[in-house]
Amino acid sequence: MTTGPEADIVIVGAGIIGLSAGLLLQRAGRAVTVIDALPPGTATSAGNAGLLSAGTNMPVALPGFWRNVPGWLTKPDGPLALRYSYLPTAAPWLARWILASRTSTVYAASDALRALHRDTMDGYREMLGPAPFADLIRTQGSVNVFYNETPGRNEPFIRHLIERHSIVVEDLDRKALVDLFPGIGPIAQRGLFFPHNGWTVNPGRLTQAVGRLFVEAGGTIDHERVLSVRPVSGGFELFGNLGDRRARTVILAAGAWTGRLLAPLGVKLPLETERGYHLMLEDANISPTLPLLLRDGGMAITPMEEGLRLAGTVEIAGLDAPPDEKRARQLLDRARLVFPELQATRWRKWLGFRPSLPDSVAAIGPAPGVPGLYVAAGHGHTGMVGASTTARLIRDLVTGAPPAIDPAPYSLSRFNR
Ligand SMILES: Cc1cc2nc3c(=O)[nH]c(=O)nc-3n(C[C@H](O)[C@H](O)[C@H](O)COP(=O)(O)OP(=O)(O)OC[C@H]3O[C@@H](n4cnc5c(N)ncnc54)[C@H](O)[C@@H]3O)c2cc1C
Repeated sequence: MTTGPEADIVIVGAGIIGLSAGLLLQRAGRAVTVIDALPPGTATSAGNAGLLSAGTNMPVALPGFWRNVPGWLTKPDGPLALRYSYLPTAAPWLARWILASRTSTVYAASDALRALHRDTMDGYREMLGPAPFADLIRTQGSVNVFYNETPGRNEPFIRHLIERHSIVVEDLDRKALVDLFPGIGPIAQRGLFFPHNGWTVNPGRLTQAVGRLFVEAGGTIDHERVLSVRPVSGGFELFGNLGDRRARTVILAAGAWTGRLLAPLGVKLPLETERGYHLMLEDANISPTLPLLLRDGGMAITPMEEGLRLAGTVEIAGLDAPPDEKRARQLLDRARLVFPELQATRWRKWLGFRPSLPDSVAAIGPAPGVPGLYVAAGHGHTGMVGASTTARLIRDLVTGAPPAIDPAPYSLSRFNR
């Protein structure tokens, strides 16, 4: 017999996804407890590049992208690295990733990403209120930078996806880039300006602000590692490192770790982590006015309140392998390709775990075959962008309200047929 306390809703994971969902459910009148082994907003949601790219509608696996994979893997400082000891574990996911580059899957993924990202600014404005929004979020746009003078092989398709969703972009030639970013090096040949994108000046503080609002709305945050979730009569038993507890409804928003809690319940979720690094330059001698996404460099350069953040790269090595410090340091070399004069003497290195599904589309909705259990995970490269609409969707699915967006593309049934 279970003796632990019983909650209405328990959310596992105090990242941007779990806390945003908790906030909206709490505001909808439900009693929510968020559980995390770490302090709120200190995992992947803290160290990312902070881009709030409302115009991002591209999955990672684009048609023909696999042709680039061998080249990326053989370059020691390439945008993709694979720990070969991890290959047997990652192989099924990598195969699904390549299959997800089929044109029909890419169109479906692109539509799903667009619906999840389009209203990111309005969603954050609604969650945070005007003053915290203005404090934490910038709405002046962002720039994608290209190294080649003429469009590469994939660009016509990317352009087609942009037009498919009427995303506003402006082409920038080399002169326009130099005007925007004095000191930008000759490798930067062209750019695309997304005026409706934005960024946060501190992703960790943004996530913690959502957490604070959640607590102010009456929610509870408990520090505990959840070891298992088990259906019992009338709900679930959660076994944690501090004891057991019961909940009528459970939402798994444990980022890249969600699969570990889901697998024992027989629910399939092909979640892998695309690890990524950042270097936080505390005393950089340049401070661009807008964030830059280096399309050919696999990284972003974002002006933040604590300095200039260089973030990106993908490393397939699982959740437990130690960090590869070289990959963090290489971010500075790559940024110097674009800003040759960039100098810094003080920086902090960070490793984070993107929760990634092969088609880049998050899993949001009920877990098939386990009534009362929901999943909100797998946001990959764009969890900060997708959090507010994910939270709206989870709130509506749990409370039975008409869903904010069509839930079908995010359904877990696509992995559990
Ligand atoms: C280098 C890099 C750059 C990125 N740049 C961007 C960007 O510019 N824009 C963007 O939108 N996205 C970006 N991302 C992706 C984004 O950071 C993620 O998609 C997002 O943070 C995922 O949020 P989450 O809440 O799902 O996961 P997390 O923030 O990882 O939170 C999951 C939480 O669950 C907790 N947890 C896990 N297991 C348990 C357990 N058993 N018991 C208790 N607690 C548990 C963890 O401690 C953690 O706090 C980037 C990621 C990386 C790595």
